[in-house]
Amino acid sequence: MRQAFAKLLKRLKKTYPPEALEVVRHAYRIADEAHRNQFRMSGDPYVIHVIEVAMILASLGLDPEVCAAALLHDVVEDTDYTVDMLRKEFGADIARVVDGVTKISSFNFSDDVVGHEQRQAQNIRKMLVATAKDLRVIMIKLADRLHNMRTLEYLDPETRKRISRETLDIYAPLAHRLGISRWKWELEDHAFHHLKPEMYKEISRMVAMKRREREAYLNATIAFLEERLAEAEVVAHVIGRPKHLYSIYEKMQRQGKDFSQVMDVLGIRIITQTDAGCYNALGVVHGLWTPIPGRLKDYIAMPKLNMYQAIHTTVMRENGHSMEVQIRSEAMDRIAREGIAAHWNYKEGDGDDRLDMQLSWLQKMYDWLKDAGGQDHLMDSMRQDFTATHIYVFTPRGELKELPQGATPLDFAYLIHSDIGHHCIGARVNGRIVPIRYNLQTGDAVEILTSKNQEPHLDWIDVVVTGRARTRIRQRLRELGELAQAEEQRAPKPKTHHVSPKTPPPKTIPEVDAATRRKLVRVQGLKGMAVQFAKCCNPMPGHAIVGYVTRAPGISIHRAGCKSFARSARDRSRIVQASWEGEGILLAKMRLVTKSRPNLLADITNALRPLNIDILNAQFGPGENNCNLFDFQFEAPDQHAIDRVARTVRRVPGVVTAHHMGAEEIEGKEPPKAKASSKIKRLKEVS
Ligand code: MN
Repeated sequence: MRQAFAKLLKRLKKTYPPEALEVVRHAYRIADEAHRNQFRMSGDPYVIHVIEVAMILASLGLDPEVCAAALLHDVVEDTDYTVDMLRKEFGADIARVVDGVTKISSFNFSDDVVGHEQRQAQNIRKMLVATAKDLRVIMIKLADRLHNMRTLEYLDPETRKRISRETLDIYAPLAHRLGISRWKWELEDHAFHHLKPEMYKEISRMVAMKRREREAYLNATIAFLEERLAEAEVVAHVIGRPKHLYSIYEKMQRQGKDFSQVMDVLGIRIITQTDAGCYNALGVVHGLWTPIPGRLKDYIAMPKLNMYQAIHTTVMRENGHSMEVQIRSEAMDRIAREGIAAHWNYKEGDGDDRLDMQLSWLQKMYDWLKDAGGQDHLMDSMRQDFTATHIYVFTPRGELKELPQGATPLDFAYLIHSDIGHHCIGARVNGRIVPIRYNLQTGDAVEILTSKNQEPHLDWIDVVVTGRARTRIRQRLRELGELAQAEEQRAPKPKTHHVSPKTPPPKTIPEVDAATRRKLVRVQGLKGMAVQFAKCCNPMPGHAIVGYVTRAPGISIHRAGCKSFARSARDRSRIVQASWEGEGILLAKMRLVTKSRPNLLADITNALRPLNIDILNAQFGPGENNCNLFDFQFEAPDQHAIDRVARTVRRVPGVVTAHHMGAEEIEGKEPPKAKASSKIKRLKEVS
């Protein structure tokens, strides 16, 4: 047995029982046989490559099935072994994963100048669509690319450059989105090495020099800080933050700084034992040095899209140099380095949790695609690609479904199954209750709410846009004997009859399973209260609602605008705030950096008008480099709405950047000050 494979087994044995490794041994035997007589450009037997790819995954603690699929990832593409044979030997699961990896490899990554970006956009899209079924595919593909980058020196310069560009364009961003920063840094540094060999050497030489020079200063800082933390009884350790070569280069390029300006900023990381310890550590740091205003970022309260959590702050040292401090707990640290892989391990053995986890990462990936900044043409063209005629949404199990633009949850329900369509009473989109008329958007996670008492209604025909849904609705209405009547109502009334002017028949209210609805109500933020729905207005998910404490123990739920409630609810003190689950309100804070020009504020407010944003307060003041700062707070139902505001204001000429400075949940519509300020909020005010 090869030494490399023995090493792989040894690593897996650390985490998994010996009997779980049989599949890995089996995969190795097949791969070794299939790749016999194949060699890498380095002269290594080909099988070494697939063992190393499996090893990269095993080092993150991924499970034996993923490693087995990694060992087999090239057999279908490069040998006579087929997917069918894999299915017979290893079962459908592993065969599907290998098939996914093979499909990605067959994408056309040619590098024509014409259409280059479109092609890449297409490729990422295809990759994500393939991934939507199984994130293991993308993880194996990334590990494959990482090992290829490690051994790139054996290829000719042209190919090296092409593969390196592709790595920076597609693979490093994907690793970042999965939160696997270890892979991201390594991919970037390898690509940088091959794309700009001179620059790479120069920066690594300077870093080595600087390191010696700074070692004493860094160590003194660490020792001093660890002592102060111990005094404050914060269990934590402090480390110097390694700067990656590519990130130094990027900073120099982007911020127009020279090498020493980038390097003078000392970076340290405090890793606390507990999550709560992070805020205590922050207190210690800000007690020792003056924080630089505007540089405190609380990614614990507001995690990044890739689930990264930490507190970042920059402080001014006695010597006039600033120091960047990252504070995170051990658990957060692990996620910061390993991203999705860290979650993978925690959820070991639990299929449902793993699906949930995958789904939420994928959603975040799609958010990323949707929210990519305007300067990024690659993402722009992809966004168009996404939005042109079709949208892509997820089922609760993370499957991707394609629907035409304008599709509603009802279309989605009928796409899944006719019965789900017939009994649909609404949907939860991204955790939020929406009416059946809601316009689905790419990236939405859709869960259909059903009730066995529900049946299709006549006006549903106008709600759906897919032919499939329309046909099913008509069929069912015909069965129920309601369609003929419907056609008559739609046809113009014959004029020979004298029709007395009377109000049209009241629209039938869908017969909704009250038990299902009850589960969705929150009273003053609490779920599971004993509630009844008032007969007078029959509130449905999507309606604004209020509660009234009734004499018989319980709470009666009315629509907020119910007239009979307004007449009968004499005792104001018994009115309680109620909402449908998922309809929280966020108080968001946004900062714009703007150029000075006339009418800018008017243009910003005009741009925001269609979004129905209530600006609660705003502040305008001078910023750096002749720019102005415009801070404002507004209420938004969810993160999507906040992102939409950022995108919209960025498009206003004169707006340089728009930053979301954090949001907090508020209950009901009370002004934010009425709520006891949390620790997090206090800290924000201090900064
Ligand atoms: Mn490979």
